[in-house]
Amino acid sequence: MFASLIAFIRDYYRSNGPIPLHAPVFEGHEREYVLETIDSTFVSSVGAFVERFENRIAAYTGSPRAVATVNGTAALHIALKVAGVEAGDLVVTQPLTFVATCNAIAYCGAEPVFVDVDRGTLGLSPRALEAWLTEHARLDAEGVCRSRADNRVVRCCVPMHTFGLPADLDALIDVCGRWNLVLVEDAAESLGSLYRGRHTGTIGRVGTLSFNGNKIITTGGGGMIITDEALAARARHLTTTAKVPHPYDYVHDELGYNYRLPNLNAALGCAQLERLEAFITAKRALANRYAELLAGSSIEFVREPEGCRANYWLNAVICEDVAQRTALLAATNGVGVMTRPIWRLMHTLPMYAHCRRGDLTVAEWLEARVVNLPSSVPPGDRQ
Ligand SMILES: *Cc1c(COP(=O)(O)O)cnc(C)c1O
Repeated sequence: MFASLIAFIRDYYRSNGPIPLHAPVFEGHEREYVLETIDSTFVSSVGAFVERFENRIAAYTGSPRAVATVNGTAALHIALKVAGVEAGDLVVTQPLTFVATCNAIAYCGAEPVFVDVDRGTLGLSPRALEAWLTEHARLDAEGVCRSRADNRVVRCCVPMHTFGLPADLDALIDVCGRWNLVLVEDAAESLGSLYRGRHTGTIGRVGTLSFNGNKIITTGGGGMIITDEALAARARHLTTTAKVPHPYDYVHDELGYNYRLPNLNAALGCAQLERLEAFITAKRALANRYAELLAGSSIEFVREPEGCRANYWLNAVICEDVAQRTALLAATNGVGVMTRPIWRLMHTLPMYAHCRRGDLTVAEWLEARVVNLPSSVPPGDRQ
């Protein structure tokens, strides 16, 4: 099985050399747009590409507004702040995520609460969320959700669309609605993924994207907050040092952040965005090939949830047990075909070990079995 998988990957990428997990592709206007910023001298946080990139992301996703940031973690940090997260709050999220999700919560002085994921979506389970809230929370006289144990406010719920697979959003919206939680989507991995026809990141109150070098499109480093007019204005203010508009004076009316995306990076983003749908088509074709190859084997290819279009940013498989997972990682990495286990669960990391959590059976089961396979878009002549 491993041998035929490795042979398929080598054939697909037409390479006997090292094969990365995910490499960017620059075959459009990237060079042209980046050089334009240099020629104009506007390489920093002022420049036409930043606004253009924001407008194009808003138009593409169908979001009312978009605010560009230096990276996805910064986007999530500010998204949580504009969603109302304050120091001392609790924010419910999944333990199966990249550490940035939890770090952004901690930057707010808030604390993550970990609830389980669903096997089908690898994302936050509405049932697990409901179960944790029923056991540990109550609505106070003002309708604010609070922890029964110590009265702390449970402010937000942050599902993450793992590897581009949309989480079970309708059911999450239902639970959040009944418990008065603000839904913030960490859509860092799922740009272009659709949940019942709508873009992930636009369905909760606020959503965030990442354009890190390994994401489906990249700006080198970068992120985006997608939300409505009012919260976007607030996010824009906080990400630009809370500077009050004035012809020459330096007035800052609260603690702000220097989080605005430079024009140089936005130029790369504008060119990459022009290629996004072609990338998604190529990735979906590769996902189908992996699924066909693995059909009937003991390794399960993770398919998109029903009613969704996944961007298949990173292809994932579920091995039958830890032994098979370890053998697959060794066999592939040993011959230069890069595969990776899924992240260590967040509550096992030292800075989040003290956090509250529900039953995490599914997350633990997946942690022992999930492997990501090479998922780069091949060069243009073979897309
Ligand atoms: C990539 C990513 C982020 C943001 O990462 P940056 O490197 O800061 O852009 C946040 N959450 C998840 C789940 C991610 O995969």
